[in-house]
Amino acid sequence: MIPLVAWGTIARRMTRIWTPGLDGEPLAPPGFVRQRRIVGHPNYVLDHPTRYRWNKHVVALIRKLYRILGTKLIHVCTYVEHPPMDQLAVPRRLDRLSLDLWDGQGRGFPIDPDVGWRAYNIMWDDPGQPFIDWIIWQAQIRQRANGFAWEPFGTDPISWHYDHVHVTFHERSFRL
Ligand SMILES: [Zn+2]
Repeated sequence: MIPLVAWGTIARRMTRIWTPGLDGEPLAPPGFVRQRRIVGHPNYVLDHPTRYRWNKHVVALIRKLYRILGTKLIHVCTYVEHPPMDQLAVPRRLDRLSLDLWDGQGRGFPIDPDVGWRAYNIMWDDPGQPFIDWIIWQAQIRQRANGFAWEPFGTDPISWHYDHVHVTFHERSFRL
């Protein structure tokens, strides 16, 4: 006799149902294998391998995004040294305070612009922690340091961020 709870686990493994919107469920998709970083590799993804670990207050918002939009429409990930420390005068590792929003197929798959805007608004309008430090989407950046004014951003297809939304949050201890 297999306890009900074990059946749930077995069924999930067999059917690969992934429910990151629920507390306690993995934020990494089924089959994710954590790769080591190859520093300086010309392939950005090998130099900055994907991760799915965030500070607790960011996790709560990511789960909310998945509950509203679902794993078909969005994929949320971060990566090693995200953003790279040579950008935006980033002085330290912010991997666990940053996220990228892609299409549900995964990192590198362009998000549908309407879905991107919905996700943007969910994060922007979220009443609780975390607080946005900066957000980049559709060749524009809004930074707390600049009163969240819209400013042009990017110099090429990657930095324009037409294909994904980037957000970096403050620490939970941050006070407005
Ligand atoms: Zn990013």
